[in-house]
Amino acid sequence: MRPRRCAPRLLAEVDERRNPRTNATVNQLLDRYLGVLEIEDTTRAGYESILRNYIRPLLGELSIARINGETLDSFYAELRRCHARCDRRPRIDHRTAVEHKCDRRCAPHVCKPLGGSYLRQIHTLLNGAFGRAVRWQWLGTNPVQQSDAPAQPRPMPDPPAPHQAARIVEEAWADPDWGMLVWLAITTGARRSELCALRWDRLDFGTGVLSIRSAMAQVGKRAWEKDTKTHQHRRIVLDPQTLALMRGYLQRCAQQAALLGIDLRQDSYIFSTAPDHAAPMRPDTVTQRYSRMCTRLGWTMHIHQLRHYSATELIAAGVDVRTVAGRLGHGGGGATTLRVSAPGPPRPTSEPLVPSPAVYPSCPRHWTTPLGRSRCRSLLLGLRRRRAHTSRSRPTSGPPSAVVPTRQAITSPARPRWPTDTESRSAPRTARLPS
Ligand SMILES: [Zn+2]
Ligand SMILES: [Zn+2]
Repeated sequence: MRPRRCAPRLLAEVDERRNPRTNATVNQLLDRYLGVLEIEDTTRAGYESILRNYIRPLLGELSIARINGETLDSFYAELRRCHARCDRRPRIDHRTAVEHKCDRRCAPHVCKPLGGSYLRQIHTLLNGAFGRAVRWQWLGTNPVQQSDAPAQPRPMPDPPAPHQAARIVEEAWADPDWGMLVWLAITTGARRSELCALRWDRLDFGTGVLSIRSAMAQVGKRAWEKDTKTHQHRRIVLDPQTLALMRGYLQRCAQQAALLGIDLRQDSYIFSTAPDHAAPMRPDTVTQRYSRMCTRLGWTMHIHQLRHYSATELIAAGVDVRTVAGRLGHGGGGATTLRVSAPGPPRPTSEPLVPSPAVYPSCPRHWTTPLGRSRCRSLLLGLRRRRAHTSRSRPTSGPPSAVVPTRQAITSPARPRWPTDTESRSAPRTARLPS
């Protein structure tokens, strides 16, 4: 017998446990939820990877009516035990799934917990999906609300030590194009995606102001330009040393292009592997190259740590936190900046905004190495491949492309049409690129 004035919602819940309104499984709910969700492609790709690796294998086949706080707590506990969800028996983690010869990268499995930020994302995703299930009247209550949200992980800023940063820069300058990117990452603290999206017309050589207006997003092989992470444009003043390096780098890029008979456009990308700088560098390429370089030096590092290095060094040099937050593009008025900068003893105050070059590792004197013959040949091959590809995909449209230079033209190049150092300085507003 039901009590006379029992809360209707409670009754609904009780009824539901007995006969759920839907027999849908967690997989079916998630498919439906993702189908109606309006999110950026990068977020979607992140969600799909979480679903594939963690949620679907453990919860996917269960009926949504069977999910409760206890199920979810066990689910989180399992992920905290081992991110690989192993069966606790000894095994070897192989470096690749395809047939291979084992080397030192194939090692006995050690259980490691899944990172706190992943657990948070899983919780958010499940909460959203079950919230919708309640709105769609598939369920009376949201079971995710009955489990504790995994704690927000505390950021552990781990920037390279100054001697490591100096070594990284030295190693990177072995290839001037790569060295310039790493140098700019250190001095500006810009995000990897923002560095990839930089174009020459966003750097004002007259005032030394670099405008950060967009970022490159990447999912798999597809890359596209989008808004910055906090949807804000920002302007960073480059220190004189960095500005001089950028001027030299621009000359180098124009020289390389001129050797191949092509011009750099004002809106071409600053960092590119294409000789005409028409295509940006991909964020993943930058990450992989940086990690490989650090591995050669004997460290396990990620390029994002350079952002923490920049924050740490600027704050240690006495630059006020709000200014550093503005430079790095952090929201929240400096709270994030303080979290990601490693604590250290205060240093004497230097000039605000424009960091003193003394804070940063020194750059090599011979950075403008002459363009070698093999580099010329690889650029030329790259250009021919690109043109062949373009003419295959667009046979009739588009302007006629410049003539690919002969081998003789490359080995005895004409002088590049490029403003000299003094000319660029006298042109106050924009970088003067050959039209
Ligand atoms: Zn192996
Ligand atoms: Zn394990």
